[in-house]
Amino acid sequence: MTEKKVRVRFAPSPTGPLHIGGVRTALYNYLFARKQGGDFLLRIEDTDQNRFVQGAEEYIMESLRWCGIQWDEGPGKDGPHAPYRQSERKDLYRQYAMQLIDSGNAYYAFDTAEELETMRKRIEAEKGNAQYDATTRGSMKNSLTLNKVETVSMLESGAPYVVRYKMPENEEVVMQDIIRGTVKVNTSQLDDKVLFKSDGMPTYHLANVVDDYLMEISHVIRGEEWLPSLPLHVLLYRSLGWESSMPQFAHLPLLLKPDGNGKLSKRDGDRLGFPVFPLMWNDPKSGEISSGYRESGYFADAFVNMLALLGWNPGTDQEIFSMEELVEAFSLERVGKSGSKFDPAKATWFNHQYLLKSENKDVASLFDLILKDRGIHEPIEKITRIVSLVKDRVNFVHEIWEQSAFFFNAPESYDEKTVQKKWKEDTPDILFQVIDILKNLEPFTIDSIDKALHDYMEQHEVGAGKLMIALRLSLVGAGMGPDLKEIMVLLGKEEVIGRIDRAVRIIGK
Ligand code: GLU
Repeated sequence: MTEKKVRVRFAPSPTGPLHIGGVRTALYNYLFARKQGGDFLLRIEDTDQNRFVQGAEEYIMESLRWCGIQWDEGPGKDGPHAPYRQSERKDLYRQYAMQLIDSGNAYYAFDTAEELETMRKRIEAEKGNAQYDATTRGSMKNSLTLNKVETVSMLESGAPYVVRYKMPENEEVVMQDIIRGTVKVNTSQLDDKVLFKSDGMPTYHLANVVDDYLMEISHVIRGEEWLPSLPLHVLLYRSLGWESSMPQFAHLPLLLKPDGNGKLSKRDGDRLGFPVFPLMWNDPKSGEISSGYRESGYFADAFVNMLALLGWNPGTDQEIFSMEELVEAFSLERVGKSGSKFDPAKATWFNHQYLLKSENKDVASLFDLILKDRGIHEPIEKITRIVSLVKDRVNFVHEIWEQSAFFFNAPESYDEKTVQKKWKEDTPDILFQVIDILKNLEPFTIDSIDKALHDYMEQHEVGAGKLMIALRLSLVGAGMGPDLKEIMVLLGKEEVIGRIDRAVRIIGK
């Protein structure tokens, strides 16, 4: 058998915003395709029109773009298997449903909702497994129980129908999963799933298998929640005569709650204060707004890096990976079997690392936007310098403001605790003398300020603790902040003197 070209797909249904678990699925597909020199497809699975949500498809594509996950084929990027939106491929699924009926692998079913409900109640009363399967199909209204003439007349009368897969009886389906190894399921546990409906729409199962086949998908990499569908998919390949070109499967472990067990949900994010969506989402029906990583101030590459390591490990201690490095290091063999607990503190840590390794001038350009929003216009060189002084204290660009507001606005109050502890009776006199020294200091640089202050302290036997904290209070309004001389140089001589003078007048003796 010749090796198939690697072709993978991310196949979301546009039923709402993309959960970060979905982004991770897309990312692993993308990394795998790039690493193997293959193709990565985006296919929109929108056959279930009851679950269609306005704006969801655009949201999914915008999320992938933000993460730098580019698709080689998909909406907006036509390839040999266009279109890539299942609703636009509607007409091609019917023939496969018919093929399955003709070969005896599927049948028409005409049961109404009430009839299905009656069956469910009856079987439940008998404590049986209430599903449409080999044990129940014989008592239902379908082309297996009706004769040919009755079936044709039902179809011709326009009665609503579905096409169901005729699940073989008591057969062991043996499947191979790249992550989980051999998986076995007996078909007696499975029901006769609906494949196609009389409105002309396929269900997920049929459309998914048909498209994976037609689009020549070599590996299906998807979330663990699809593992229960795998036996049906494998049987469909077999029944359609496509077994020799069946893709390989890899079912990814779940993302778990930070605390306790279970799948990470939006409620966990709300409860613990972190986003579970890549971008902000404004629900068109409820009007509810959910926060997103992008709007919360995460760098896209920090977000991607964090997600990559939730379920995959490189086998080394390395934690910081660019997209290129991820491509290089990625393999499905290193994806774990068990779920990964989401750790919001680790997510923040990744952003901090990316902030630290970003060029100061790039961070400054971002911070400049925040300043401009506040009506503050400063030269970019000055902003860059400020960024360099405070960025190790913050996790996000927007937090730089809290650490640096005093550079732009003189303090309006002075931290009381520090005043009480450190502002002594002679502090005003000392500060006035320092003002005199600073006035005449030329040039006004870190070195000259350093020397002048040290000379002063030595001559007047004033301790550094006393003078430095008094100066800091005057300039910053609190006992914190970066290096005092740096602050002084950035504020400029006139502003420094003005602030000290003002502090003395306001705090007094
Ligand atoms: N449309 C399915 C979803 O929304 C795709 C599952 C698959 O990848 O087969 O997740």
